[in-house]
Amino acid sequence: MGKLYVIGIGPGSIENMTLRAKEAIEKSDIIVGYTKYVDLIKTLAKGKEIFSTGMKGEEERCKEALRLSKDNIVSIISTGDAGIYGMAGLILELKDGEDVEVIPGITASSAAASVLGAPIMHDNCNISLSDLMTPYELIKKRIEMAAEGDFVISLYNPKSKGRPHYLRESLETIKKYRAGNTPVAVVKHALRDGQDVKLFNLDSFDDSQVDMMCIVIIGNSQSYIKQGEFITPRGYKL
Ligand code: SAH
Repeated sequence: MGKLYVIGIGPGSIENMTLRAKEAIEKSDIIVGYTKYVDLIKTLAKGKEIFSTGMKGEEERCKEALRLSKDNIVSIISTGDAGIYGMAGLILELKDGEDVEVIPGITASSAAASVLGAPIMHDNCNISLSDLMTPYELIKKRIEMAAEGDFVISLYNPKSKGRPHYLRESLETIKKYRAGNTPVAVVKHALRDGQDVKLFNLDSFDDSQVDMMCIVIIGNSQSYIKQGEFITPRGYKL
């Protein structure tokens, strides 16, 4: 009898992975994942059979993981949380009787928040700016609604060469609802080698250094910077 673990490995280093994720990888015969992500856990994956594909091979990877899991213990890995722009959804959509267990991980917004201070302390939402599977019109609508609803907003997949202006346009929309001094943080490689943090506000925001290795967090109307730390108050009367 085989099994498929769908694992969120967190940002990448072993100490930021759950014990449950680590143990599932250790007991797996086969590891399936995007080449770069398998590399992040190479010490754990040592000696195991690896099935890795490039970024766009998601469907192929999931089908192969499900097929292999009929007779083997298999882990398919996503960075962060597998249930947030990861592999969990597609696996469950494709699943047909296989034994699947989803194991959570620290998603990029939580990883980045820990580096910044406490920016997502209050109601918040994740929006991906990738239009590969979501029409830009719908992304724009969600930005507008989240801005109007005063949610702290974490932007995943914030900028790629094919859509360089989406991030700027999103921030312009948010500016219609929030003050120019609202904090905006860009965290690149949160909790990974090469981590880099940049703090701006809506007026000073500069997207020139932003790429797909970054997450962008925009505060709500109450967020502020205190001694370099990005805080969204929960409402305690101090
Ligand atoms: N499943 C992942 C998200 C995958 S979508 C998770 O839960 O974190 C890929 C996007 O996530 C990237 O373009 C980037 O915006 C963000 N991301 C993932 N890891 C990151 C990290 N360590 N630092 C900053 N952003 C990250």
